[in-house]
Amino acid sequence: MAAPRNIRTKAYVVQGEGDPFTLCDVVLDEVQPNEVLVEIWYTGICHTDVVVQHGGMPLGGYPVVLGHEGAGVVRCTGSAIKDKSLKPGDSVLLSFHSCRQCRFCLEGRCGTCPHMTETNFVRPARRDAGAKSPISLLDGTKVHGQFFGQSSMSKLAVVAEASVIKVDARPEELRTLPPLGCGYLAGAGTIFNVVKPQVQDSVAVVGMGAVGIAAMLAAKSLGVQQVIAIDVVEAKLKVSSSLGATHIVNSAAEPDLQTALHAIIPGGPNSIIDTTGLVGVLEASVKALAHGGTLALVGVPAPTATMRLNALDLLLSCKRVIGVIEGAADPHILIPRLLELYRDGKFPVDCLAKVYPAEQLDKAITDLESGLIVKPILSWEDLN
Ligand SMILES: [Zn+2]
Ligand SMILES: [Zn+2]
Repeated sequence: MAAPRNIRTKAYVVQGEGDPFTLCDVVLDEVQPNEVLVEIWYTGICHTDVVVQHGGMPLGGYPVVLGHEGAGVVRCTGSAIKDKSLKPGDSVLLSFHSCRQCRFCLEGRCGTCPHMTETNFVRPARRDAGAKSPISLLDGTKVHGQFFGQSSMSKLAVVAEASVIKVDARPEELRTLPPLGCGYLAGAGTIFNVVKPQVQDSVAVVGMGAVGIAAMLAAKSLGVQQVIAIDVVEAKLKVSSSLGATHIVNSAAEPDLQTALHAIIPGGPNSIIDTTGLVGVLEASVKALAHGGTLALVGVPAPTATMRLNALDLLLSCKRVIGVIEGAADPHILIPRLLELYRDGKFPVDCLAKVYPAEQLDKAITDLESGLIVKPILSWEDLN
């Protein structure tokens, strides 16, 4: 069957930096040999979408279709996809794009791929079509697409094969699990692939959004005995507590992070996962760490944010500070592992999700930003 072309669908388009998300008709061009046409059922909203909407990350251009936590079913596959088992009707989760050829990708640390910024933000993942976006407006204007290989704020999407993860998941599971492609993968991957805590270690997580809670649950799944959740929003601390945090710190009430952490763990935690990107938090975290401890930088700092570190202290305390993108994970390996943990009851992330009809994106973002909902998810089901 020839790949369909000029498919009309609906997508959220951001016209220019800082402009609103507008639901409009767009046209998708032909699926290239290494691409997959996916009918998107659900799209998780990640804070990065909002950051990019406002120009906070490098981007190939506007107008753009964002969205990078897609879930749905395969409609058709390109003629040269590597996974020959992938067929129409298969359930898939969509994740970030990486080259899958460099040293890091071959070692299964795709999140550390040096081409991440280029292929997820700057240009569409497709090579065969001269890196031209598959998306246009009805008047022919090109729209930057394949954001994270997918641009899944759309009812249909032409997705790079590297971003397509076939999963044996039921429709009701897909409903709450799109963030396995980014937020949950980023948090859990940081624990499994980078921090690798021992049972007797203590892990502190700063910022209990989707990424932070996933990191906490991953540490719990390894049997880590002390897991401390830190946030300024009481509701998020309550959720963290109910999901197994052994200690909570409200840093609005206890702003001195080092004192608060040392009161719980004398000498400080062995590792701290920061999802806030706030310089003050990062500097305090380095001080609060135990000897030989690790600070994992997961949150995105402002472009001009500069950390002050005392190099001699860092040397003598044998601490390390490490940047972690997308959990340094291979989504084709970590997503099935997380799905298994979810089914075993060790990664109960479904309780973090609230599903909104696709038309209610603005409300979903407002609820995300206010901390009311940890993970808003758009449903494209009822949109015609
Ligand atoms: Zn690579
Ligand atoms: Zn994300």
